[in-house]
Amino acid sequence: MACTTNTFSLSLSSKLNTNFSSDSNPKLNKHLFVTLRASGSGELNLGRLVLSRPGQLSRRVCANATQVMDQSVGEKSSAAPTIVDVDLGNRSYPIYIGSGLLDQHELLQKHVHGKKILVVTNTTIAPLYLDKVVDALTRGNPNVSVENVILPEGEKYKNMETLMKVFDKAIESRLDRRCTFVALGGGVIGDMCGFAAASFLRGVNFIQIPTTVMAQVDSSVGGKTGINHPLGKNLIGAFYQPQCVLVDTDTLDTLPDRELASGLAEVIKYGLIRDAEFFEWQEKNMEKLMARDPDALAYAIKRSCENKAEVVSLDEKESGLRATLNLGHTFGHAIETGLGYGEWLHGEAVAAGTVMAVDMSYRLGWIDSSIVKRVNDILVRAKLPTAPPETLTMEMFKSVMAVDKKVADGLLRLILLKGPLGNCVFTGEYDRKALDDTLAAFCKS
Ligand code: NAD
Repeated sequence: MACTTNTFSLSLSSKLNTNFSSDSNPKLNKHLFVTLRASGSGELNLGRLVLSRPGQLSRRVCANATQVMDQSVGEKSSAAPTIVDVDLGNRSYPIYIGSGLLDQHELLQKHVHGKKILVVTNTTIAPLYLDKVVDALTRGNPNVSVENVILPEGEKYKNMETLMKVFDKAIESRLDRRCTFVALGGGVIGDMCGFAAASFLRGVNFIQIPTTVMAQVDSSVGGKTGINHPLGKNLIGAFYQPQCVLVDTDTLDTLPDRELASGLAEVIKYGLIRDAEFFEWQEKNMEKLMARDPDALAYAIKRSCENKAEVVSLDEKESGLRATLNLGHTFGHAIETGLGYGEWLHGEAVAAGTVMAVDMSYRLGWIDSSIVKRVNDILVRAKLPTAPPETLTMEMFKSVMAVDKKVADGLLRLILLKGPLGNCVFTGEYDRKALDDTLAAFCKS
């Protein structure tokens, strides 16, 4: 693993048309190998980024690519966590990854602000982990008081009405600006708790304790928070970063198989958009992931968090690069919204959406057929759907996609694969016929 110390600065611009390696920014103190190309057409083509930080503890990982499995995060003991940093200046924070981390009380406690804590969770997760989290927050720390709010279960409750229950509890409990919100659960709870924290008293601290693969590899990292609107997913929200993300991999022991597979859709995404070596590793290890091999899962979580942390550090507010994390999501959100929230799991919709985006990339002549096959094969092995539900029509896709957050000046921009495996573009410059042909190929009417 190349962990060379160097410095760089980077600004993302749709006019950028350059290859560069490093520049000087002592604050970030990183090394960047990157080929970043963006034409005047607004297309952003992203090569592999390698970032590392010097002088870190041995278990602190470099955000980097290694083909061999790293055993350090898979041990079933309360060893020192692996730490992936999300580098955002004074809003930087660590992602702790490991087994038994909820037993290491100091990890959580050092990120708590003030003496009052509100744990936000749901009816499924509370009986499993609420007591453990309250213990982690209070053991040896008698001066804090912990309130909780237990929300109803499911994506269909990721809305304004449910959000109000968090505010009700916070206000009834007389929480002030020095309080800390703790999100305990999957992506639905994390997104809602984060948005509540962003808006309660104009912003209070919060901590993410993600308990699904989806949340551990993606949603808890990077500060996108929000709720759904009946007309579209995640349309209301805020960028708001947590104090830390604590990934206790033991919480996955209770996760249903279907939810596990759903989270793997996002793991596969990282390989496709920017980390071909990781995709190849997944091709070799998919059965291990599906069988919950702890080392394989821990490695996939770590590598995914490294990818996400790199992207978020470079483009927190999604001016270009970060949008590439949404491969398959525009089609996928149309599936989720069109079917009704909660019918298909988020990762299932993303999987089918990824197949559609890959199909369109192939129709445009941007990738070769071997990539189409490899994407299809890996999703089948992960027991994920490779086509949208039959009930969805072309018209439904088009009307939901028209209100996607990536529409700019009436133009729908999409993340599409282009070039060898591990490369993608975020662009509004594509032949509309390819989109129509893809929709026609996957929809019955
Ligand atoms: P989820 O939050 O609905 O959790 C899935 C299910 O697993 C729920 O029934 C939950 O109660 C249950 N569960 C959670 N942890 C468990 C555990 N350890 N044991 C047993 N059951 C458990 O769904 P998700 O897949 O985690 O997240 C999907 C949501 O995340 C979507 O709303 C999506 O929009 C959002 N998301 C956000 C981002 C982001 O950047 N903010 C990224 C990706 C996805």
